[in-house]
Order: sequence, then C-alpha cells, then structure tokens
Amino acid sequence: MQIRRKTTRTVNAGSVPIGGTSPVVLQSMTNTPIDDTEATMTQIERLKNAGAQIVRLAVKNRNSIPHLREIIKQAKLPLVADIHFDYTLALEAIDAGISKIRINPGNIGEEWKVKEVVTAAKQNRIPIRIGVNGGSIDRKKYDHPTPENLVKSAIDHIEILERLDFDDIVISIKSSDIFDTIEANRLMSERRDYPIHLGLTEAGYGLNSIVQSSIAIGNLLLDGIGDTIRVSMTGDPVDEIHAGKKILESLNLRYNPVKIISCPTCGRTSPKLDILSLAMETEAAVLEKFQASLESRNRKIVIAVMGCEVNGPGEASEADFGLAGCQNGKVMIFAKGTKIETVEYGEAMPTLLQLIENTLSGDD
Ligand code: SF4
Repeated sequence: MQIRRKTTRTVNAGSVPIGGTSPVVLQSMTNTPIDDTEATMTQIERLKNAGAQIVRLAVKNRNSIPHLREIIKQAKLPLVADIHFDYTLALEAIDAGISKIRINPGNIGEEWKVKEVVTAAKQNRIPIRIGVNGGSIDRKKYDHPTPENLVKSAIDHIEILERLDFDDIVISIKSSDIFDTIEANRLMSERRDYPIHLGLTEAGYGLNSIVQSSIAIGNLLLDGIGDTIRVSMTGDPVDEIHAGKKILESLNLRYNPVKIISCPTCGRTSPKLDILSLAMETEAAVLEKFQASLESRNRKIVIAVMGCEVNGPGEASEADFGLAGCQNGKVMIFAKGTKIETVEYGEAMPTLLQLIENTLSGDD
C-alpha cells in the first residue's frame, strides 16, 4: 500500500525541500551546548551519518552566535536555529547563514520586531517554523491545551506572518498526549496547507518513546499528514534518527534496500541455533555486500530468518530469500518459500550471498 499524502506547499531548508511532493524529511536536535563547537559538530556528524537530513540547535543567547557561525560553516547539512522570544537572535542566526528558524512570532513582541525578522527571512529565503505545544499556548487566552486550542494558538502565530505576507511556514503542534497530538494535527491540516512537522513531545526514553511516537506519528502519516518528523527521546539524539527512520521505512515513506523479517521463535525453533544472532548477522552481511548495488537499481529485497525448517519457509513464502534453522543445526536456504539447499551453519551466509548475487546478476 502506498500512502496518499495531503498536498502541502513546499518550503526549502537550504538544500532540503519540505512539503509538496518531497519525501518526508527526518530530523533531530542536538543536545550538546552550542558553545562546545567540537562536541556539537561531532553530534551533527553522527546524526547525519545515521540518516538525519536536518538538524536543529538551540540558540540561547548572544554568546552562542560566533559558535553558531562556525558550526554552520562546518556542517554538511541544513541547520535550524531554535530561538525563544529574542528577535535579535533570529536576525543574527539568519545573518550567520542558518537554513531555517524556529520562533513563534506571537512571542517576539512589538510588530516592528516581527517585521524585521520576516524581512530578513524573506531576503534570505529562510522558512520559519511555528511550534506550539501544550506548555507554550497563551494561557491568558486559552485555559486548556485541548487540540482545538492548540490549533487556534498556532493560527494566532500564523496570522501574524500572513498579515506580513509571509508564507514560507512550517507548523508543528505537539503534545505529550497521543490522542491530542493526532487530533490537533488532523484539525491543522484541514485549516492550512503549510507543511507539517510531526512529533510527540516529552515522549520519554527508549521503548516508551519508540512505541508512543510510532503510534502518534504513524497514525498521522497513514492519514497522509506530515512532511517532516522528529522522534523525541531522552538520551542520545542518534537514537531518535534510528527510530524515525524505522517509522518511515515501515510505511514505505523511505527507501530501505534490505528488509529482514524474522520469526518470534517458539518451541519448534532449532535448539542448536541462535536465531537472533543469525538475523542480525544476515542483515549486516547482506547490507555490506549489496547495499550500493541495490540502491543504484532502486531495488529492495526481503530476507527471512526463521527458526525451523518445517513452518519457516511456508510462513515466509513472500520473502525473496530466506534461512531456516534445522533441528540438526544445519540451515535451510530458500527463496519465495521453496527450498534451494541445506548447508552447514558456517556455509549459510556465503551460500545466501552467492544466491542473491546470482539473482541480481540474472536481473541485469
Ligand atoms: S517459523 Fe518455526 S520456529 Fe519460527 S515461530 Fe514459526 S513455527 Fe516457531
């Protein structure tokens, strides 16, 4: 199944388009102090290598600006400056060459200050992301951060920019509640066609974040809503990228050359084999040998790693290739559910790799 994405406008964060027909963009945020240029650069590099397409940094005060300049100079992907309240920081970040800023115009103060930021953003073709979450809505105006109030609060900010004839906008509405996040973004996407940045805020750490973010972000993406995503996770932001990438790959919104499927194992599993290790070794070996060639052909292969030879090949008959553990410790190699041969454990990987190679060269 292919998701039918809602049509949004396109904005460009440097070389990365967000919205329109562009693929959903994966992003994260550094958690190193910006003043530690070296640590921040190391983290940006790690994020990029993991698959991040955009990285956001918190710009806290004036002292950060020289560091920001240096980081922009060195970074090999577009950066977003996250700024709260201080319009001069937005102006300085734009002057430093930032690719996008996150600032809420309603928090900047007098209109002439907003105008200055908008003028600089227009001149430099810098999009502005408006970010509203449960903790940032105007409590004098809205008593509770209900989905409707979150959207109204976002529209308050949007209208300030629209009055200044600025439409290079990305919107994010986040809550730590899955249901509110889903409802608010559905409402928002009905009211404006600006690209939407998805995420569940304060999603926790580890498995908690992965499960909750996948439900919130996944549901919206299935609805066709969302142009860029950030999984929020306490800890190393590289884990956010790994999780975000899996969400996009699972929904066929991001190309993945090798998909490994493996059975949960059960009482029938070959007692002589470690199926978890076999699955991980298979993924690593196949990616190492075929990733580049699969990518160049835009081809995807599915490989099954199953715990027994009785049910495994049948259960994984849709997989292009497969391995199944035999009771005697040998490994059965199969393709599309049909047995090719049974080999000793040590021969399983070379045999599988050769089979894939033969198949791919036969396709040429
Ligand atoms: S493939 Fe075999 S070992 Fe794996 S879950 Fe199915 S029956 Fe159990």
